[in-house]
Amino acid sequence: KTKKIAIYGKGGIGKSTTVSNIATAYSNLNKDVMVIGCDPKADTTRTLMGRRLPTILNTIKEKKSPQLNDIIFKGFNNVLCVESGGPEPGVGCAGRGIIVAMNLLEKIHGISDNLDLILYDVLGDVVCGGFAVPLREEYADEVYIVSSGEYMSLYAANNISKGVKKLKGKLAGIILNSKGISNEAKIVNDFAKKLSTTLVGVIPRNELVQKSEIEAKTVVEKFPQSNQAKSYENLIIDMINNKNLSTPSPFDDDEFEEFFLNYSKE
Ligand code: ADP
Ligand code: SF4
Ligand code: MG
Repeated sequence: KTKKIAIYGKGGIGKSTTVSNIATAYSNLNKDVMVIGCDPKADTTRTLMGRRLPTILNTIKEKKSPQLNDIIFKGFNNVLCVESGGPEPGVGCAGRGIIVAMNLLEKIHGISDNLDLILYDVLGDVVCGGFAVPLREEYADEVYIVSSGEYMSLYAANNISKGVKKLKGKLAGIILNSKGISNEAKIVNDFAKKLSTTLVGVIPRNELVQKSEIEAKTVVEKFPQSNQAKSYENLIIDMINNKNLSTPSPFDDDEFEEFFLNYSKE
């Protein structure tokens, strides 16, 4: 059965970096992987393709009935890449790209049944109807949230988990993409516990990410022997083996403030 994982998190937190690297790491284990970028930024697949892809929203503006090869592209190691796209900044509905993309991909569902893993990369600041689409059970089986130990990042993570709860999704864990703040792993680990989930993996901060990104490559492709590449390899294996799915128990706003005050006293 195809495993379908949605990755949520605040903008700029490292979702696309994480998704493209774990997709590459899994494809290195001879697995068939598809990555679906659901962020109007449409840059999830850039490091897999070596360039920016046309988005589904733009493609259907030009072609009435796009074919498979107009919207699905083969990236590094044959990882399949899709970008839903979004509107011009400030114009129109930001969630529409996802809705249109999902409907279109559903029509061509046959291909996804033969894959080992589908990863959705979803922007999570705006917890709107469109961004919640991948949470619906016919799409993702489980949700991970990428966060650092920073206030705003965990605040977004908490909001996302409210959405997961409301839509009866399954939270599989938190991925710490380190910013390097003090007590970071402890903060995020405690946060995960309070949400009734676990910290499933820790990705260090490392400038190899930028060095690879400049060349539109993943770290796993460009620096396969590095510890950073290892951390992505370990993460995807832990995610695949993770059986710990839960209904999240999000903080209310007061609890969230209190949670943070505890660490500032330390
Ligand atoms: P998102 O998809 O959540 O908006 P990105 O994956 O695009 O975030 O990451 C935002 C920026 O942070 C990128 O330019 C990337 O270079 C940097 N970044 C992400 N993860 C790391 C890391 N572990 N170490 C160093 N830089 C990182
Ligand atoms: Fe579009 Fe609805 Fe999201 Fe607004 S809430 S951006 S209309 S999907
Ligand atoms: Mg992104």
